[in-house]
Amino acid sequence: MHTDYLKAFIAKHSINEENLATVAYLANLDYLSRKSPEVAKAIIQEIHDQRSHLKLIASENYSSLAVQMAMSNLLTDKYAEGYAFHRFYAGCDNIDYIESLANEELKKIFGAEHAYVQPSSGADANMVAFWSILFKRIQSKELEKLGKKTPQELTFEEHEKIRQLMVNQKMMGLSLTHGGHLTHGMLMNASSKMFQIIPYELNKETHLFDYKILKEQVQREKPLVLLVGYSAYSRLIDFSILREIADSVDATLMVDMAHFAGLVAGKVMTGVYDPVAYADIVTSTTHKTLRGPRGGIVLCKKEYAEFVDKGCPLVLGGPQPHCMAAKLVAFQEVNTKAFRDYAAQIVKNAQAFASSLMAKGGHVLTGGTDNHLLLLDTRSFNLTGRQAEIALRQAGMTLNRNTIPNDPNGAWYTSAIRIGTPAMTTLGMKEDEMQLISSLMIDLLKATTAEKNNLAKVTIDDKVLVRVQNEVKHLLKQFPLYPEIALRS
Ligand SMILES: *Cc1c(COP(=O)(O)O)cnc(C)c1O
Repeated sequence: MHTDYLKAFIAKHSINEENLATVAYLANLDYLSRKSPEVAKAIIQEIHDQRSHLKLIASENYSSLAVQMAMSNLLTDKYAEGYAFHRFYAGCDNIDYIESLANEELKKIFGAEHAYVQPSSGADANMVAFWSILFKRIQSKELEKLGKKTPQELTFEEHEKIRQLMVNQKMMGLSLTHGGHLTHGMLMNASSKMFQIIPYELNKETHLFDYKILKEQVQREKPLVLLVGYSAYSRLIDFSILREIADSVDATLMVDMAHFAGLVAGKVMTGVYDPVAYADIVTSTTHKTLRGPRGGIVLCKKEYAEFVDKGCPLVLGGPQPHCMAAKLVAFQEVNTKAFRDYAAQIVKNAQAFASSLMAKGGHVLTGGTDNHLLLLDTRSFNLTGRQAEIALRQAGMTLNRNTIPNDPNGAWYTSAIRIGTPAMTTLGMKEDEMQLISSLMIDLLKATTAEKNNLAKVTIDDKVLVRVQNEVKHLLKQFPLYPEIALRS
């Protein structure tokens, strides 16, 4: 069927600069559909799915077609273990070129001393950072004491003693149920086995970062690593204070800006709110607010560079040259005025969304937002987060449930939903659309009734459901995803 789309398209239009993306994308699908109809079909289904639902997931976005095309080519075939201009494989000239340009572009965006673009995900980037810190601060020091240069020179006993020391270090991270991330010490994640984890929490009343209590806890525990970052926190963090707190016990300050990297890159978070200026080591994903391909990055001060650059073989396998190419394309897009405007609009949209929800009686945690996300307490609608998530998806809105601090419904059912504006903002939506969507959301949640004795089931008033579904469809028609690809002939 895609063959016909392409044929019809080419018959009607000549190929020129304006429709180059259309032809390239359709030709790609067309070719693929002959080799693997299953895969082509799933991709087309996914385009339909994403076009027919509003994406309110705070951790997702829409990458550009250029980013996607940079990923689908023969660069995937190349082994390039090592790092730029320092490889364990021959024939890496073009990969060196791409990786070093990506590093440079990234340093320019964030004003970082050093950059590393190999991690395949945010979790991988954190693993690189954790082990780089342990190698630098524990192993290197012990080697020096013994007058040895590399771990290969150690006796079995010496090596074992250092290893024990390395896995007995303390790390403090924001508790998962208070908005932290799985990789910050959750018991099901390896981070909680590598380190002795001491979680810290938000202020019990305000649900804000509590620098005073954190400082006391840090000074009591004296962790090797103070890790700051979140997946569900909607306020600014003053990194200058965290730097002071970390310095008072000689801790390494690590910031995981996976969620808000785009807002730092887009100069919305500057000065004391920009972690790169203050932290020893900063990690991020590239596919959230940064709007690049799925992947991770590490930024660090010079002293950590030699350890971070050895991410492969430290914890990573062979780098993914095609993803590094797509990252470079995305970084070039980020280094523009258009992206800075985009980042500013993300926050304006989130604030408009929060104000509008609150004006209609919704309870937004912390009373608003400074970034791209907000948390809506669903208990005032007599719903769990899970029930709200299910009801909204039926109405055409995709988002996820989220815990509130000390959640009475636990981590599976939860008591809130997390709403994010990065994807809607990419579609070009502004404050007016946020107002509309938030009122549709309130209407739908009000029309949703929890089933007795089942925290995951709901019934929705039919009339309201149909109206909201239609309004969502109407809105999405005005803000089409990838207008360049005219799949509907
Ligand atoms: C999303 C996220 C990650 C993990 O990213 P993956 O690419 O899914 O591994 C790490 N840390 C934080 C704070 C995140 O929000």
